[in-house]
Amino acid sequence: VKRNPGEVEFHQAVKEVLDSLSPVLKRNPQYTEANVLERMCEPERQIIFRVPWMDDKGKVQINRGFRVEYNSALGPYKGGLRFHPSVYLGIIKFLGFEQVFKNSLTGMPIGGGKGGSDFDPRGKSDAEVMRFCQSFMTELYRHLGEYTDVPAGDIGVGGREIGYLFGQYKRITNRYEAGVLTGKGLTWGGSLVRTEATGYGTVLFANRMMESKGASFDGQRVSVSGGGNVAIYAIEKAQQLGALVHSFSDSSGYVYDPAGIDLELLKQVKEVERGRAADYVSRRSGAELRTEGSVWDIPTDVALPCATQNELPVESAKELVKNGVKVVAEGANMPTTPEGIEIFRGAGVAYAPGKAANAGGVATSALEMQQNASRDSWSFEYTEERLASIMENIHDDCVHTAEEYGAPGDYVLGANIAGFVKVADAMIAMGLV
Ligand code: NDP
Repeated sequence: VKRNPGEVEFHQAVKEVLDSLSPVLKRNPQYTEANVLERMCEPERQIIFRVPWMDDKGKVQINRGFRVEYNSALGPYKGGLRFHPSVYLGIIKFLGFEQVFKNSLTGMPIGGGKGGSDFDPRGKSDAEVMRFCQSFMTELYRHLGEYTDVPAGDIGVGGREIGYLFGQYKRITNRYEAGVLTGKGLTWGGSLVRTEATGYGTVLFANRMMESKGASFDGQRVSVSGGGNVAIYAIEKAQQLGALVHSFSDSSGYVYDPAGIDLELLKQVKEVERGRAADYVSRRSGAELRTEGSVWDIPTDVALPCATQNELPVESAKELVKNGVKVVAEGANMPTTPEGIEIFRGAGVAYAPGKAANAGGVATSALEMQQNASRDSWSFEYTEERLASIMENIHDDCVHTAEEYGAPGDYVLGANIAGFVKVADAMIAMGLV
């Protein structure tokens, strides 16, 4: 805390992991001897830079850019870019730290990193977003490369932003290095299923949690928060599996749609028009926009938080438990507060942390890198099969690890230990670097 003052989200993410690791440290004194924990808490490299750009009125604007290259023991740094006004170093470091464990859990050869800016793309014209992305990449390009650091999207960074970033990288370097960014468009090196991967993967993970209890998504009531990339495709997959998804949200409030979300309308409003929750409600009879309370007040069987960090506080966890929630799987990163997690654990709710449940996005990014390296493009069905088997493996790895360390059913402990061991072993094998 003294070393990283004020970085509250980073402290929270590190504490959650460290709290899980004592059983593995007791069994493996080499981790303590090599001081692996302290090394893991310090990012390998942190880059902070000025991003000057001109708005449509000709006024100069300044934002701050970040890239935290956290850990490259398992492969090149890999992790998204977030554009949101709340971004500061503590958020990027928490996301980068989580990413190291998540990427390890996927079993793919990728290290962990994260980046972004306090730039707010909402309400900006396409031309303003383009000028911002070009300026951002004009500094960042020197740190990137398919063998070095490979960013992707996150909050506020989707296909449009990746396009502008890739265009500028290609122009500056004079290299068509497709493997330098993931989440690209399908005609210029992107992978089928990447858009859907995080949301689909979260639902596939939750489905496996249910299967182990003899249940399934069929007929379950599902609450989803968020109305962006992860939320939309979590809703799509849950509906494909027969669930009734009755909510989504954005920063203006949450929508309760008792008949089930109209996915086509949601995609039209959010993906095509870049509209707000109110635009959905105005075209959908029976749906209500609520600006008081939270989406977690709706009685539900399954909760999928897919918006942002700390969006599910202790009061909401209590409300969900009171209303009989059975499964919570995180599409977002660290959406449940530590006190909220304790409520779920105490009540015996099956709870999966984001670093395990939402790893399908980065895993499919690694599949995009494989396709770029072999100049190939795979079918939707094949790529989705690969995603499904990766999610099954992550789930089962968490379950077996939790059992091995005497905490059956504890997905937090399972994910943290399973993610940690691979990175720690690689770091020790490579010596003091
Ligand atoms: P998007 O930008 O596509 O959507 C984010 C959604 O969450 C929007 O509806 C946004 O509402 C809402 N939101 C964001 N911040 C807040 C806030 N402070 N309060 C209320 N609502 C908020 O992002 P993604 O769907 O890509 O990301 C969502 C989460 O999933 C993040 O935690 C991200 O780190 C995580 N994630 C994403 C992956 C990916 O592949 N995209 C991979 C793994 C994890 P509004 O538009 O009103 O701001």
